[in-house]
Amino acid sequence: MKIAALLLALLAATGLRGQQRCATFHMRDTTEAESPSDSPPLAITLRETLTIPVVVHIVWRTPSENISDAQVESQIEVLNRDFRALNVEAAAVPSLFSPVLADMELEFCLVAITRTQTETSGISALYQGGKRRVCYSELGGRDAIDPGHYLNIWVAGRADGACGDAPLPGQNTPVPAAEDGVFVRPECFGTLGTAMPPYQLGRTTTHEIGHWLNLRHLWGDGLEDPLCQTDDLVADTPEQAYSYQGECPTHPSLSCGSADMFMNFLNFTDDACMAMFTEGQKARAWAAINTYRPGLLEASCEPVPAREAPKESAVLLLNNPADSWAALQLPEKDIFEIAIFDSAGRLVFIQNRIQSACFHIDTRSFISGIYYIKIRDEGKIHTKKLIIAR
Ligand SMILES: [Zn+2]
Repeated sequence: MKIAALLLALLAATGLRGQQRCATFHMRDTTEAESPSDSPPLAITLRETLTIPVVVHIVWRTPSENISDAQVESQIEVLNRDFRALNVEAAAVPSLFSPVLADMELEFCLVAITRTQTETSGISALYQGGKRRVCYSELGGRDAIDPGHYLNIWVAGRADGACGDAPLPGQNTPVPAAEDGVFVRPECFGTLGTAMPPYQLGRTTTHEIGHWLNLRHLWGDGLEDPLCQTDDLVADTPEQAYSYQGECPTHPSLSCGSADMFMNFLNFTDDACMAMFTEGQKARAWAAINTYRPGLLEASCEPVPAREAPKESAVLLLNNPADSWAALQLPEKDIFEIAIFDSAGRLVFIQNRIQSACFHIDTRSFISGIYYIKIRDEGKIHTKKLIIAR
């Protein structure tokens, strides 16, 4: 029945129903022995509410993906309700679960918004040479800002159907610091502008920050857990079988012999039907902060210093390795000369007096191999290595 429902949902022409809330590749880690939930959470009693500074990187290709500051701020407002149990839905949590409903005592402050135009569609889920492209200015994305002290959120398009994803800390194969953060599609971010039902209330980001703080899906590993074999390693969330993808059930909804906490933020339930974290999740998240993210404990909501902002003037080579085209992103206002040499040093292309923010290179006549692009920018010369691979 669930498969049929999912197929029907996929056929729906409007909205995002039927699309995945959350990509699951972050669930590759199955080693649970190292879980911080196994050790007592440190410093959980003698502390104040922690405010986590947030940097939002908008990496856009189409103008609609270049979402407004107001849409970003609407997301921060959602986080500051959801992580303090101030969301309106919290009041309607079934009495079975209300005793474990938690104020996570986490707040969020926005310290920077960066905006980067990219040539690459679906960049959020694309990798090149093992690197997640959206996290690197040189690959058409935007460099993270100090991931030890800030939560970096990349808002960018993706073609895999997922609303978002985030790596769990402490995985067997940890992601590089440069890629540590949360990834959300503009259609699932904030409550205004491009946000689309049923993911228009900002809960994707709440859910993904849960992962970033080491929380797992309530059903456990994989897309669903019909045989009730895996768990989220949190004692006060009942074992459940389903993800509640694209659903908004009524309580009680039973699986694995008990009523499911389908309104927990770590399900795939529609945004409007999510309501809570639990005390067990809170202990696990705070343990993760102390164990894996101690820099957050000394983080500051001061605006990010200018010296930490990524360089705006760099020359970027886009769509590299290339097949039929590549492009150079150039600082505006300057005049350039571009020359391309093959690996034997032969000149294969030259053009003078280029004045354009984005210069397309037709590479269809280039044979496969390595080329060197020399970009003369008044006094300076930049060199980029171009790979033609077919
Ligand atoms: Zn998830």
